[in-house]
Amino acid sequence: MVLSIIDIETTGGSNGNFVTEFACFQLINGEIRDNFSSLVKPPVAIPPFIQKLTGITHEMVQDAPTFEEIAPQIFDFIKGTTFVAHNVAFDYGVLKSAFARANITFNQDRLCSIQLARKVFPKERSYSLGKLCRSLKIPLENRHRAYGDALATAKLMKKIIENDSGILEKNLKPIKKHVSIPSHLDPKEFEDLPNQPGIYYFLNEQFKPVYIGKAKNIKNRVRQHFSENSAKKAELKRNIYHLDHQLTGNELLAELIESAEIKKYWPTYNKIQKYTSYAYCIFQYCNQSGAIRLGIEKNSVIKNPLISFSNVAECYRFLHSLSKEFGLCQKFISGKSNAGDCVVCKDNGYVCPTSKNFEDHNKRMLLAISSFLPHNGNFLITESGKTTEEVAFIWVKNWIYMGYAFVPKGLSITKVEDLEAHLHLQSNNNDVQRILKKYLRRKAFPKLISLK
Ligand SMILES: [Zn+2]
Repeated sequence: MVLSIIDIETTGGSNGNFVTEFACFQLINGEIRDNFSSLVKPPVAIPPFIQKLTGITHEMVQDAPTFEEIAPQIFDFIKGTTFVAHNVAFDYGVLKSAFARANITFNQDRLCSIQLARKVFPKERSYSLGKLCRSLKIPLENRHRAYGDALATAKLMKKIIENDSGILEKNLKPIKKHVSIPSHLDPKEFEDLPNQPGIYYFLNEQFKPVYIGKAKNIKNRVRQHFSENSAKKAELKRNIYHLDHQLTGNELLAELIESAEIKKYWPTYNKIQKYTSYAYCIFQYCNQSGAIRLGIEKNSVIKNPLISFSNVAECYRFLHSLSKEFGLCQKFISGKSNAGDCVVCKDNGYVCPTSKNFEDHNKRMLLAISSFLPHNGNFLITESGKTTEEVAFIWVKNWIYMGYAFVPKGLSITKVEDLEAHLHLQSNNNDVQRILKKYLRRKAFPKLISLK
């Protein structure tokens, strides 16, 4: 079971309960693995006492995305997992309404860490997150900020599972909605799906894929599809005659292989929704003298983008905050080349770099780039295999995605040649680049083997 442990901060009940910060840590096989967090710009003012309580001020959310802007990314991150929060009814309720405003149907299995803590640690005097953490000696930093509270709740959940491994199944609040199996599909095909990460295929009468998706838990994700009742889903369900799946052992390969499979089959119902996002990117370039600049371009025209976003505004927002954080001259980032003296250099006491004097600025540029792209681009990623007997490797060469391999556990792998017999070569493109870079940014402790 993949747990998504979530905490949100909001504008408060009297002010519409709009999200101001979202944070999620995922607990996979008892280990805290991936995380996703972001400040969120609410459509209303944050009342002063809430600003005081959470420390999230107006200024802090001014450059943040709105919930509608990041809703698809959040949904993609947590779909098919079990939603956990300290008082889950609150976080779940607020997020469900927020997703509804973004036109996304949100239904997740749920668990409440307060209820679980009451059962596993019945002698505690208080079950508020702060007091419980103090009593159980769980470090809690940044109280009342989503990231700090979500991380502490994740550690609490780890403790709860360590004390009672069967407690999750017993207390799960499954999706209430009725699961309706598509009328042309034999229910046994659904029942036989595995609860493991991989790709699933919805096939038509001729066994051609009409939809391909990836999931941390294939069966849960398909169940989620089958419990939605929108007109769009009903139409998709009428075209499902068979199911198929492919285990990938981990979510990274699920995402990489899904992307390749969609490009291969181009299923009707993927066309409608997939790959319209992440159309713009930030890229690095040098003039003849070697001064590094950052530009914004359409993803389709850049060979090796640094990071991709769904629109130009998000690219600007990212560059703006990067420039502030690392003191990057505004003249050296996209679209500001004709500005007078820039505010950033002025604020930092720097002289704006020139084509002759840019060495110090280059250093700041490289530091800024390494903050979101902390690798040289030549490595193997180690991930879970399809069974406990094997390990998965993903090969990246000069930031080009080369392929993957499932290798029996115990083989010593230090160079690409060691993988040879097991290697599946794959084609590289902007989508897989984005997937790999997102993985490296988000993964709490990626296991990498550096290559020369
Ligand atoms: Zn400057």
